[in-house]
Amino acid sequence: PHLTSLLAQRNGPFHTFEFFPPRTEAGLVNLLDRVRRLASEPLPAPLAVSVTWGAGGATADRSLELSEQITKLGLEVILHLTCTNMPKEKVDDALSKCKEMGITNILALRGDPPRSEEYAVIPPTEPDLFQHADDLVRYIRAEHGDYFCIGVAGYPTPHLDSESVEDDLKWLKVKCDAGADFIITQLFYDVEGFESWIKECRRIGISVPIIPGVMPIQNFASFRRLVNLTHTPVPVSIMSDLEPIRTDDAAVKRYGAKLATQMVRRLLSSSLVPGVHFCTLNLEKSVRTILENLGWSAESNQLKSSPLPRHNQLIDD
Ligand code: FAD
Repeated sequence: PHLTSLLAQRNGPFHTFEFFPPRTEAGLVNLLDRVRRLASEPLPAPLAVSVTWGAGGATADRSLELSEQITKLGLEVILHLTCTNMPKEKVDDALSKCKEMGITNILALRGDPPRSEEYAVIPPTEPDLFQHADDLVRYIRAEHGDYFCIGVAGYPTPHLDSESVEDDLKWLKVKCDAGADFIITQLFYDVEGFESWIKECRRIGISVPIIPGVMPIQNFASFRRLVNLTHTPVPVSIMSDLEPIRTDDAAVKRYGAKLATQMVRRLLSSSLVPGVHFCTLNLEKSVRTILENLGWSAESNQLKSSPLPRHNQLIDD
């Protein structure tokens, strides 16, 4: 089903997970075990699981394989699909494989220019067809009508290519007008800033559901790298909490889970968002702790008929 239908049918707050395709067969087996555990009672099942796509189609086969395996677990998949430096045939191929697998949710992205070693493998053949994510949204709508529910990326801190907040919001609106059904946002740590941004989205007429990307801090070095990469502002209080524990990985992880729990509680209490999207980095412990902290019951964010059979629920009820 379309993510937007699932959203409309759910009982309460919800979460989705994001995973990237592992490089090896053993990695895939491990990851699928994690996905299965994270989607099993007593934890609430995710509304959907998203699978990332390597820029230029670098992970095409592995992304499709992981998506198929997750579908076989009875979970709804959102396949990320980037479009720049992607031959049209590769986009067509991914979309037709989605149809074969029963995947109806796509996160339509521009992607970033591939790193030089990827260029050697995937030469950009049709540079003009897909310049931006809105081109991909329009293309999917033109080729496949309403078959796919299409999401796009939103940036509470403007994308680095944008000249201003207004410019960034204008293009987000263009993506929605081109046919996007929902937005998943870039990670952020400034909840107040996020709340102002989402109000601005609504003010300029963006009406689709906006799902905030939440990335629990896993360790100090990777946190700092990500923040530098995305230029996401970090509240001073978070930096001063982290400073004394920055070399203690276990303490940083605990802090990251506690912080993410507080962020999710605050985000949901504002009623500005219907649920949250966890960027897991393929790690299990932090998101498990956050879900346990949140204390949502196994059914709380579930549909009247859950995609995964739950012990206390008939499969077809
Ligand atoms: P766009 O919407 O095209 O925006 C890029 C920039 O161009 C912005 O500054 C925007 O304001 C501007 N812009 C947009 N449309 C136009 C237009 N028509 N004309 C002029 N300017 C325009 N990358 C991956 O490689 N694989 C993934 O799986 C992946 N998943 C992601 C998931 C999420 C939730 C997010 C937030 C990002 C993800 N990315 C992924 C990263 C993403 O590909 C990069 O951030 C990329 O630089 C921009 O992608 P976009 O779809 O937002 O691009």
